[in-house]
Amino acid sequence: SHIKEVEFIKSSAKPKDCPKDNFPEFAILGRSNVGKSSLINALVRKKEVALTSKKPGKTQLINHFLVNKSWYIVDLPGYGFANAPESTRMDWSALTKGYFLNRDTLVAVLLLVDASIPARKIDLDCANWLGRNEIPMIFVFTKCDKSKNKKGNRPEENIKDFQDIIRENYRQPPPWIMTCSVSGLGRDELLLHMSQLRNY
Ligand code: GDP
Repeated sequence: SHIKEVEFIKSSAKPKDCPKDNFPEFAILGRSNVGKSSLINALVRKKEVALTSKKPGKTQLINHFLVNKSWYIVDLPGYGFANAPESTRMDWSALTKGYFLNRDTLVAVLLLVDASIPARKIDLDCANWLGRNEIPMIFVFTKCDKSKNKKGNRPEENIKDFQDIIRENYRQPPPWIMTCSVSGLGRDELLLHMSQLRNY
């Protein structure tokens, strides 16, 4: 599961423009500010790898990074920008939904959920949409080091609330991993999990 080499391949405006070389891929998805760039950088142990996705609401692109010349990390546009106009949100849905439904080489989606805040409806909606469409998913809880938020919930409580709601909707809830991009918590576990999924 070791990452030796990461190469940015391309940004695609449409699912049909994505690379056609059939390498297995993992898409990384989450609300804006969830810690997606930090997680990608922690996974590949590099700074600024995920820069292409950093303009909120503007850069609505699918970004492919080739790892070890054999599989992709795919950085998807974030969702739920506080100030994004409705039209931008619609674009997000069309683009990413098209990608999820048509991308044969997609192994799993890493759905990032901020553990430092209470469960958000938009994250639950996203998880449920993926579930209904039978798209394999791993919940990756981010910012698990943040001991308390303003409302006083600990990450463990937020995660439990999120899982309780998910359990009501899934016969078999997706696996989940707790991470912290600052300390590297969960990194090896996540990479191991991804390498196991690639081999099926
Ligand atoms: P993105 O918009 O999803 O790409 O989010 P970023 O990676 O830019 O992170 C958003 C903010 O959360 C930044 O201020 C990060 O420093 C912070 N952040 C990201 N990951 C962690 C984490 O694991 N722990 C803590 N405490 N903060 C984090």
